[in-house]
Formats: sequence, C-alpha cells, structure tokens
Amino acid sequence: MKNNKTKNNDVILVSRPTLPDLNEFVKSLEIIWERKWLTNNGEFHREFESELAKFLGVKYISLFSNGTLALISALQTLRITGEVITTPYSFVATTHALHWNGIKPVFVDVDPVYGNLDPTKIEAAITPRTTAILPVHVYGNPCNVKEVGQIADIYGLKVIYDAAHAFNVKINNTPILNYGDLSVLSFHATKTFNTIEGGAIVCNDEKTKMRIDYLKNFGFAGETTVVAPGINAKMNEIQAAYGLLQLKSFEGLTEKRKKMANHYKKLLKDIKGIRVLNDMENVEHNYSYFPIFVDKSYPLERDALYALLKENGIHGRRYFYPLISEFPTYKGLSSSNPENIPIASKMTNQVICLPIYPDLELEVIEKIVTIIKNSS
Ligand SMILES: *Cc1c(COP(=O)(O)O)cnc(C)c1O
Repeated sequence: MKNNKTKNNDVILVSRPTLPDLNEFVKSLEIIWERKWLTNNGEFHREFESELAKFLGVKYISLFSNGTLALISALQTLRITGEVITTPYSFVATTHALHWNGIKPVFVDVDPVYGNLDPTKIEAAITPRTTAILPVHVYGNPCNVKEVGQIADIYGLKVIYDAAHAFNVKINNTPILNYGDLSVLSFHATKTFNTIEGGAIVCNDEKTKMRIDYLKNFGFAGETTVVAPGINAKMNEIQAAYGLLQLKSFEGLTEKRKKMANHYKKLLKDIKGIRVLNDMENVEHNYSYFPIFVDKSYPLERDALYALLKENGIHGRRYFYPLISEFPTYKGLSSSNPENIPIASKMTNQVICLPIYPDLELEVIEKIVTIIKNSS
C-alpha cells in the first residue's frame, strides 16, 4: 500500500514541524468552541503571551499573526524612516519589511564565519538619512550585539533584530532577545518553535508594548477610540492555544537537536572542503539549522552536491541563496553590488542547510554524510 504517508517518508526535508499532542489540542478547541471567542486578545492569547515572556526570559512580548507583519510593525513602532542598514544574507522578508515601510535598504557585508552583519563595516554605510540597523541572527547564531549596540549609541540609531531564527538563544545566560530596541520572532511552521503561522515582537518597556498592541489592532485603544494608523496583525485564539501546548512540550527538543548537530559535526569533521559552524563561546544555541559550506577543495560544486543529495531523497535547502540583493526589486541599489558585499556573495554560493529536526534519525544523518563522503 503506497499512501501519502509512505511517500512522504521516502523524502527527507530540511525541517519537519513538531506538533502538539492532538488530544490536548482537541481539548483546547472544545474550550474555544464553548467560549466562542476567536480572536482580539482572548484568554488563550493572554495566557500564551505571559507564559511565553516567562519562558523566554523577556519583559514584554506581543504576539502576531506572522513574523513578517511583526517586522513591518516593529519598524512602524519606532517610526523608522529614510535608510536602514541591513544584511543581504537572510530570508527575503527582512528587506521586504523595509520596502513596505518606504525605507531604503542599505546592504552591508557579513562576517566570514557565521554570516551575521559585520559591525566593522556598518559605520562606512551610515549617511545623514540612516535611522536604524536591522541585523539578523542568522541560523540562530547571535550577532555581535555589543559592537552593534555601541555604533547605534554613538550615531543615535535604533536597532531592530530579526530574531526569526533565534528562539530561546542565550548569550552569557541572557536571552539574545533582550538586546537592541526590539527583536522580532517568527513561529512559522519551518521554525524551531511553530504556531503554524505566527510571530512576535519583544520589547523592554510597557509604553512600547502598548504602542505595538495598538498598531497590530488597527490602532484601537477602546471601543470607539483609534489612536494610531494600525494594521491587522493579530494572532487568533486557535494559534495561541496551539502555541501554549507547544510551549509546554518544548523542553527536551533542543537537546535532541543538539545531538543531531553533534552527530553531523563528528561525522563531517575530516571531509576536505566541507566547513561546519562550531558552537560559539558562552552561547546556548537552539540548533535550528545545520548549514555546511562547500569550498573549492571539495571535488563537487555546491549545486552538484545539492542535486546529488536530492537525487538520494535528501532535500537540503540553500539558505540563503540567492542573496536578497540579487532579487529584481533590490538589484539596482548601489549597495547590492557584489563588490560591496564580497563575503556574503561567496557564502551564498557555498551553503547547503542539511536536514535537522528533533525526530530525525541518526541513521539518516549517517546516510547523508556517506553521500557527501563518497564524492570527496
Ligand atoms: C521566517 C523568517 C521571516 C518571516 O517570518 P514569517 O513568520 O514566515 O512571516 C523573517 N526573517 C527571517 C530571517 C526568517 O527566517
């Protein structure tokens, strides 16, 4: 019998979502059916917001229907205008959020090891129109938050971190989400922590939290009071109830991912031309992604290895290829010139993210590494 289930099992995708216990979720749905309160800051929404803030160790969090609307609203919250310094080595939504706010993205190169915005390149890109920096903690590896913060302080710039990959990452026991003016999370199905679709903004003070909450709900401050030109970016009760269950069962999942990552690292260690990312000192990682970088000393080009894996049922992803600066909307910007961003331009042609998720079998990792090894 060849049903969909067995078909899906033939192919290993880069990530596979963890879902909450179905019986528990049905119980939550029954409560929602009973209450008939579906959205607009319902009970599950309030409970999820407060539990999530506690879990992540952040002061204030506002839930959103997805990460992109959270990014767009974060820029609105701080009234960011003009030019914003950002990275081309990310998911396209990072720059789209600027575009949707009428802001000009200014691409700055990344560091050659982890691929995060390189703080030493930021100052040269600041102009009188620059109002903020929008870095990304790529693959959940923390940016150099100290140096970014220092530059922002000197020039009077705001810092908004795209923390879509950085759920529950800590640096020196401090949540990475507590750095900068705002941090934005995504709970999309492919992320480490999912609410099917979803997202959030983390902030440090009550006033900002209030403004974010106005903005995500049309600017409503009361039944007939609209205090700001807001949008509709609210998370609904079904997502919030699902998220609460996800939170309750999250413990242990990072450990499993860490085991996968360590297994990959051990097996890939001596393959010439394949570089992996090591853990950073004093950082608690979430192991959301397992990128490898294929350089010239490996016999196959990156795309050939990517295709070979795919032929064998292993669907890695080239995160992030092409660079955001290569898409037609942004290609004409002077900062999109590959000569301005040589490191990002190199990494984008080397990367493959290999499958990693909590219930991935170690034997599959062994199979993947064997394919990589047999071509080396
Ligand atoms: C996933 C992602 C987003 C967008 O989040 P959605 O919830 O899918 O809208 C933004 N930035 C980065 C870096 C992402 O990976």
